[in-house]
Amino acid sequence: MSENISQHVSHCILCGKCLQACPLLRATGREELGPRSKSDLCRVLAEDPDKLSETDAAKLAGLCLGCGRCREVCPQGQDVPGLVAGLRAAHPGFKSWLWKTWLTRARMLWSPSSKAAGLVPELFHTERLGPMLKMLAGMSGGPGLAPFMTPKSFPDTYRGEKLLLFAGCTANFVQGRWLMAALRLLDGLGAEVLPGDFTCCGSGLKGAGFADRSAAMAERNVAVWREAGRPRIAVFCATCLAGLRAYDCFESDGERSRWVDSLLPLSETMRGMEFVISDNVPERLGYHHPCHAGADDPDRDFLREALGDRLVAVTDKQCCGFGGVMRLAAPGLTEPVNRQCWEALRGADTVLSGCSACLAQLSATAPQGVAVGHWLETIG
Ligand code: SF4
Ligand code: SF4
Repeated sequence: MSENISQHVSHCILCGKCLQACPLLRATGREELGPRSKSDLCRVLAEDPDKLSETDAAKLAGLCLGCGRCREVCPQGQDVPGLVAGLRAAHPGFKSWLWKTWLTRARMLWSPSSKAAGLVPELFHTERLGPMLKMLAGMSGGPGLAPFMTPKSFPDTYRGEKLLLFAGCTANFVQGRWLMAALRLLDGLGAEVLPGDFTCCGSGLKGAGFADRSAAMAERNVAVWREAGRPRIAVFCATCLAGLRAYDCFESDGERSRWVDSLLPLSETMRGMEFVISDNVPERLGYHHPCHAGADDPDRDFLREALGDRLVAVTDKQCCGFGGVMRLAAPGLTEPVNRQCWEALRGADTVLSGCSACLAQLSATAPQGVAVGHWLETIG
């Protein structure tokens, strides 16, 4: 256990910078759930595993959204979600098992089950299955948004370029319309999409403590890229992009840099493009900034540029509350996080985002009359 954890423990100086960044702490006011407490407990655990009971360690492993906001601001490079993933690896209880099954074996079932889940009455949702069913229902995202932005013209920047498209599991198995919209866009840009049999990015499994399984996925995806001649890879899910950027299975540092440079957020291809906005544009648009997008969010920048004043609400520090394993371990604690997110989006009648996990969570929890969709759905 201590080996899994100690590889992530750096020297916490108790500066408290992570406290303001943690959406779980902000929403619950409980400092024991914050990154500094987790970091401290994990340090104790790494030094002397007997100091924390098995039950307490397993409980701690469940109580983190894995959003990575604390890691972004820590001057010591403390990787709290990495610590928690180590704890999860050491305590694979039913929640992690369920999460792993969900991520690896149920993907083929996502499409039918996401529709079926919406039909199960709330009354029959058990405490344990409720969050899973809600999330499944949210994944299908209903009928989708009607497109309202048409490119006036395409730049020549990508014309003739051969590139790969990393669509991610949600687009591949449930949201085929995102995949089609991305392909249409790349076609308009004149890019040639190479065949590439990518598997899951592995981010969800890594956060849940299944490092070996996640590493195997990384190896496979890097092999696909090498076989294709190391071209650029267009990506349109913020969590997939963050997971791909964090891969650590390269022949050399040079190859790693080349991999990171090859990752191309799809929205970046549209910077500077002009759009015709049709009459069906929603009156008040909101944008949810995914935690995994980090401080520089190309989707947000693209939408600000394209939509201007039509974008009336944009989240900044708020997490959607999706939370991976925590969604199963402590759904009650993810709810205040989700509420704060919706408060920041108040006034929007349509909310856009660019992360499949955030979109599943926001679709499942949207207030009455508020539509949720990927920004790709807005482009016709
Ligand atoms: S920001 Fe980093 S160094 Fe500062 S308290 Fe948090 S974990 Fe410790
Ligand atoms: S990963 Fe997110 S929820 Fe977990 S401790 Fe860090 S900021 Fe808080």
